[in-house]
Amino acid sequence: MKLITFDAGQGPRLGALANDQVIDLAEVSQGDFPADMRAFLELGEAGIETARSAIEQALTNGQTTLVEGVKILAPILNPSKIIAVGLNYMDHCREQNIDPPQSPILFTKFPSSIIGPDDAIRWDPALTSQVDFEAELAVVIGRPARHVAETAALDYVAGYTICQDVSARDLQLGDGQWIRGKSLDTFCPLGPYLATRDEIADPQNLAIRCTVNDTVMQDSTTAEMIFGIAFLIEYMSRAFTLLPGDLIVTGTPDGVGLFRSPKIFLKNGDKVITEIEGLGKLTNLCVEGTTFPS
Ligand code: ZN
Repeated sequence: MKLITFDAGQGPRLGALANDQVIDLAEVSQGDFPADMRAFLELGEAGIETARSAIEQALTNGQTTLVEGVKILAPILNPSKIIAVGLNYMDHCREQNIDPPQSPILFTKFPSSIIGPDDAIRWDPALTSQVDFEAELAVVIGRPARHVAETAALDYVAGYTICQDVSARDLQLGDGQWIRGKSLDTFCPLGPYLATRDEIADPQNLAIRCTVNDTVMQDSTTAEMIFGIAFLIEYMSRAFTLLPGDLIVTGTPDGVGLFRSPKIFLKNGDKVITEIEGLGKLTNLCVEGTTFPS
């Protein structure tokens, strides 16, 4: 299933995409079905099964809306946490001439940085002048995970989506800690949909790309990951509980702006497209300026 959060004028709703149509899952299934992705994921397998039958019913009965008529939001708006992994692609280490890390380098992005497809990446030029792009596969957790073995870890995954790990390099590298440079408002574009785990045969073998103004900047595969998804879940869940809806943002391949010669940073009006095989395409425009929407 391709699950989405969308707004047709009544606030965020849980939906599914099928044949370019949007299905309002809460409406079709009636009953007490949540309109919120995190609450939906907390239902576990029962929720997934309800969603599957709601989709079948909607397609049979024609209870669908054209995708053009709604605004697609980030698939999840309120995860308890976003855990990101630094230096997790072999090609990204090679471009920096550094050895791969011995253990995962973890950092966080605040949930308040999340935006959706076609939303603007915004920054204040007085705060940063080195805004960079990082295409990343995001793993969405489906059940509480604590002390999970690598061999069982993928059973805890609800599905996958795309994350653009926008990074203010001057803040990231100047601060000592990465949090400010990684968590500016709008610096976590997500979407366009959450593909459930069954849709992605092998998450460690997906083409991943980033283009800026239609120039290919990153073009790699998730096979380049140093620490795979199952290992990361074991590693993290030994330290803290992963909750339904939590996001693991698994690192970026080579080609980011910081390690190019000359360096390339995003500027006002740039169009960033982040693509992963099987997960669609996430488009965001850049807006540099001091006027922020409330
Ligand atoms: Zn990253």
